[in-house]
Formats: sequence, structure tokens, C-alpha cells
Amino acid sequence: MDIPAPPAEHRLRVLVDLPRHSRLEAVLDYLAPEPWPAGTLVRVPLGKREVCGIVWGLAEAPDPAEGDGETPVLRSVVQALTDLPPFSHGWLRLVAFAAAYYQRSPGEVALSALPPDLRDLEAVQLARRLKRLDKALAAATKAAAQAVAPERPALSPEQQTVLDTLASVPQGPSPPSLLFGATGSGKTEVYLREAERVLAAGRQALVLVPEINLTPQLEARFAARFPDRCIVSLHSGLTPAQRLQHWLSAHLGRADLVLGTRMAVFASMPRLGLIVVDEEHDPSYKQQEGARYSARDLAVWRGRHEQVPVLLGSATPSLESWYNAGPAEAGGGRYRRLVMPSRIGGGALPAVRVVDLARIAAQFGKQALRAHPLAPPLLDALRERLGRGEQSLVLLNRRGYAPVLHCTSCGWKSACPHCSAWRVFHKLDRTLRCHHCGITERVPRACPDCGDPDIQPMGRGTERLEEQLADLLPGARIGRIDADSTRAKGSLAEQLASVHAGEVDVLVGTQMVAKGHDFRRMTLVAAVQADAALFSSDFRAPERLFSLLMQAGGRAGRDAALAGRSEVWIQTWHPEHALYAALRRHDYEAFAASQLAERESAGMPPFSFQALLRADARTPEVALAFLEAAALRAQDLPGASEVLIYPPVPAPIHRIADVERAQMLVEASGRVALQRLLAQWLPGLRAQASESTTRVLRWALDVDPLSI
Ligand code: ADP
Ligand code: ZN
Ligand code: ZN
Repeated sequence: MDIPAPPAEHRLRVLVDLPRHSRLEAVLDYLAPEPWPAGTLVRVPLGKREVCGIVWGLAEAPDPAEGDGETPVLRSVVQALTDLPPFSHGWLRLVAFAAAYYQRSPGEVALSALPPDLRDLEAVQLARRLKRLDKALAAATKAAAQAVAPERPALSPEQQTVLDTLASVPQGPSPPSLLFGATGSGKTEVYLREAERVLAAGRQALVLVPEINLTPQLEARFAARFPDRCIVSLHSGLTPAQRLQHWLSAHLGRADLVLGTRMAVFASMPRLGLIVVDEEHDPSYKQQEGARYSARDLAVWRGRHEQVPVLLGSATPSLESWYNAGPAEAGGGRYRRLVMPSRIGGGALPAVRVVDLARIAAQFGKQALRAHPLAPPLLDALRERLGRGEQSLVLLNRRGYAPVLHCTSCGWKSACPHCSAWRVFHKLDRTLRCHHCGITERVPRACPDCGDPDIQPMGRGTERLEEQLADLLPGARIGRIDADSTRAKGSLAEQLASVHAGEVDVLVGTQMVAKGHDFRRMTLVAAVQADAALFSSDFRAPERLFSLLMQAGGRAGRDAALAGRSEVWIQTWHPEHALYAALRRHDYEAFAASQLAERESAGMPPFSFQALLRADARTPEVALAFLEAAALRAQDLPGASEVLIYPPVPAPIHRIADVERAQMLVEASGRVALQRLLAQWLPGLRAQASESTTRVLRWALDVDPLSI
């Protein structure tokens, strides 16, 4: 029988960004005039649109024996952007792994890792961009040639030891290193030296930081050290044009250093030679929507598979990393542990003072505590700083004036009509604002229920603390930095600069200021309301509190000359709590050991692996029914006996914007068992989500969730 010759065309598999949970796998077959290699950027038709895609590989010819003989008509690739070198196999493998691990499609993961502007480019526009980039880089290179060699500080003995160890690691596969270094021990200098070594060998370095607002500071330090190198940043604060330009520089191998937030873990870097994850414990490394990946974990994976050293740094490592870097006999032995316990310049860590609020209440009366946010001894300590012209930071993790307003006669409270939460009173613009759904209204003149005009704030947020401190410390310059004070673009940088310039005596702030900023003249940090985390239902809350307070303490006394009188103050009703006891001794290791022991006996991470299935619906019944049906479905899957499925429960804030939210925890003692179950479970869930009794608005799976 005569078989007609196939058309002189190739079939390519192409990744496209299909909506999440779509039934298609987001890898589609297209015809192409040439067998473009995997990783080539292409433009393809999708429905009525033309979209950006990435060649995933050659497609297999359809099996003529299959189906009803009618092969679907394949559409053709519109164009290939061959001016751009294809993505490396390493990059494609990273995408494939992230997609499989976090249960998303590779198309979604790959395309969402690209700068939005790149996805819209056609070949002609791309060529123009590349030419422009060439020019810009040439100009920069010329300027760099005139740069003078920077001065490097002599290394401390601890830095030297750490760097010697790192230098002795043979090329090739090797475990990641966890640099456990006190705040101010000079971890950044270690990153700089490691980067220097890698750059000298002709490779690129990738440095991740948890927050956008830490990138300028870091960029400045790297730029000062490597004036003749091309350094780019990648984060969501860039304009689309900048982001594209930076991304292209990295992808083309022109940028030597890429600094960025979690998204940068997907940077395409052909000469990658080092990955640094600074403040590796920071929850910001976990993406909270779409593919809920952990950039820290992906960095470790990427390093292993591209055979590139990975350096994780922290003064308070995540318990997962600490455990991995622990002794092999105890289940660790997967990471190399490097330590730098001393501060540069020999400065002591600040003394920690724990104020027993019960004692203060007994001494001064409970009323005094309500009226005054700070216990008298703490207030005295602040005054002392003022007298010496030193700065203080008062931390309160709650913005607004008061978390709730209430009516003194009928008990009305400012509940949000759309959420299971209170609306927060903001005094500056006299609004009631829900921090969950965003609804904002003017504060009513009188109680909406009984008409009594006497409605009062309850509790305290940063605005009120600022106001109370201004009353208590006349003449002091009080500043406030929180999400409200920094809404305008560039205003955070401005406010930080004014603190650095010494224009603020007492800074009130949320955790936003506790991280990473290097305030030279700050000799006191106070946490006035830290206790909530001790009794949270989230088992990670103590870990976060401990690291926040250690970080915050690290802001104090960075100037060695002032270190001797630096203090961290904590007001608490539970002064005897083990967490505060460990903090007093700056003893992360003891804290970590006690937490790990607790987690081990309770079978919690890192001794188990978790995923959280969430469902949103108009009614709680539907959300819970979806999860219950999902649980039933899971029970029939092979390997189900190795996985524990908890009963579905309402989310901690069960209603947001009139949507009911529920969640269900899934747990296994091994990653593999959990992954096996998830992979089999997901396809069925997609189908289930459209069934009438369990038709939810949204559902999502969070692998290795950070908050439960
Ligand atoms: P960390 O990141 O560990 O908190 P940094 O890297 O910010 O600490 O270092 C703290 C301070 O010490 C910085 O001002 C830095 O410039 C300085 N520093 C670091 N290493 C040295 C060194 N070897 N000699 C002198 N100063 C150093
Ligand atoms: Zn009332
Ligand atoms: Zn609301």
C-alpha cells in the first residue's frame, strides 16, 4: 500500500501559558518549517490569539492506528525568535521540576518566569531591542574600563575560615552550604568574595534577597566592589522595559551578577557559577499565588542539577535548613554547616531585656499600661537614647491606629461586612479599612447600631503608637514606617534615607524595617506586643518571632563603638517563656534544638512533608464539600496509606470579600510518598472542580505551605 509522504514539516511540542487547571497540559503540538531546538522562543496561534511559547522538544508522529483515523489539524508556529539563544537544558529542567513538584503546568511556570515584555515581542522588535542593549552595554563597558580597583577589607579570621572551606570544595556535585552567621558577622563580605572567585573564573553569580527594598542596598555594595562588571537586578519593582533589559543581559550571559528577589531564581544564566540565598529563612521566598514555589528550595535544586555551589546565609536559619545542616546521625548531613558567631569589630550583640508586664501592672496599675504603650523602664531607656542623640526602633506588627472601633454603650464593633475580620481604624484619613478585602469607609460619626457618638478605638496600631510616643517624648522626632506610610513609589527609600541621615530619633515600624537595614546610630530596639506568636495555631509562628526579634536586634549596635550599650527590649506577659530565654542568650541553637524536638515528637516538618489543599466558594458547605470529596478520591489512590489527610477545616480567616475559604492538610513522612499521591490526585481534582455539588470558585494546592 502506498503511504503518502509526510509533509516537509516538523512537529514541535511547545509550552504555552494556559489558564491554571485547564484540562490541557499546556504543552501543545505545532507544525514548524524547521526543527528548532528545545528552548527556542516562538510565537504560536492559540485559539484566536497569538501567544509566546517555548519549544519543549520534537513531538512524536501521531500513531495512525489510534483514533478514528482523522488526525487533528495542527496549526503552525508563526515565527521563531532565533535572534535569542535558546534556553539551556538546565533551565528547561528547572521549569519541568518546579512544575511537577508544585503541581502546575510547565507552560505556566516557564512563561510566568519571563518578563512580560518579552512575551509580547515579535522577532523584528526583539532584534531592535537587542541592538539597543548592545549599545548600552558597550557604553557601560567603556565606562567600566576606567573604574579604579576597589578596596577590600582584610578578612576576619572567621570569614577566612569559611572562605577557605568553600574554596576547598571540589568542582562538581557538592552539597549546599549553610552559612550560620550572627547579624553583623560579615556574611555579605563572604558573598562578595565568593562572587569574586566565580567571576574571575568567567562565570555568573546569582544573589537572592527576600525583599525588593533590600536590593538597592545590596546592589550598591556589589557595584562598589565590582565597578568593572555588569550587574543587573530582577524584581517586580522594575519598569517592564528595565526588567526586559536586565533579563536579556542575564540570558545573553552579558550580566556577570544578577541580584534579585524570589522570581530571580528562574533567571536564565548560561554561565551560572554560584547561587547565594541571603536571609534564607525569610518567608518571602515562598510565592503565595500561582505556582507556590519556594525560591530557596528551587535554588538548592538548581545548584545541585547545574552543579553550581549554593550558599544559604542566615543568623536564624529556617528549621528545615538547620536540620539539613545538622549531624547526619540526627537525620541531617545534607548541607555543609559554616559558622561565623562573632560580629565584625568585636562588637557585642545587644543585651536583651525582658519586661514583665504583669509586674509592671502590679506596680503601676493595669490602667497605666492601657494608656501607655511602653512600660516606665522602657520609656526611661528611650529617653536616655534621646539624651545621647542615639536612635531607637519600636516595633509593632499592626498598622493603622487601632485594630477595631467599638461602641461603649451597645458593644457594636467595626466588623467588616464582607470578611470574618475587623475593619481597622486609620485616624490620619479617618477611615475604617478592612486589610483583607480593602473596603474603605469614612468613620461613622456615631454608632451605626444605637447612635451613641462615643465610639472608641480598642487596642493599638502603629499610628496610635506614633501619636502616644509623641506625647510621651516631647521634642523627639518620631517617624513611622509601615505599609501605609510607604504606599507611594520611592517613599520607602526616602524614609529610610531620612532615618540614616539621623532625622528621626524614634522610629515606629512594622517588621518591614526589622530586616536587613543597617542603621548605624540605632542602639535600642523594642518589641512592644510580641506575645501573640507564642500561642498561634500556626506551628511556625515561634520560629518567625524568634528570627524577627534576632533580626531586629541585629539592627541595634551595628556601630561597634555603640554596640556596648545596645539593647533589645521585649514587653511580655510571659517573661519565663523558653523563646525569650533563648533570645536573651542569643542562643539560636538552643531555640532551634527545642523547636526541632517539639516538631519531631509531633511529626511536623522537617520531620514530615505537607501540602495544603485550599478551596474557595460562596458558601462554607460547598468549600468543605469540595475538600471532603477530594479526600474520598485520595483514599482510592495507590499509596494513599502512606499519606495522612486531615479533616477539612475553615481557613484561619474563613471569609474574605464574601468568599468562604476552607483548607485541608495532607501530610506524609517522606517527600516521595507525598509527591506520588499529589501527582495522581490532581487530574481528578480538576474534573471534580466542575461538578455541580462541589463547584468551587477557586481551589489551589500549596506544596510545603509556610502558613497553615
Ligand atoms: P551581616 O550580613 O552578616 O549582618 P554585613 O555583611 O552587613 O553583616 O557586615 C557588617 C558590617 O561589617 C558591614 O558594615 C561590613 O561592611 C563590615 N565588614 C564586613 N566584613 C568586614 C571585614 N572583614 N573588615 C571590616 N569590616 C567588615
Ligand atoms: Zn452602639
Ligand atoms: Zn473585608
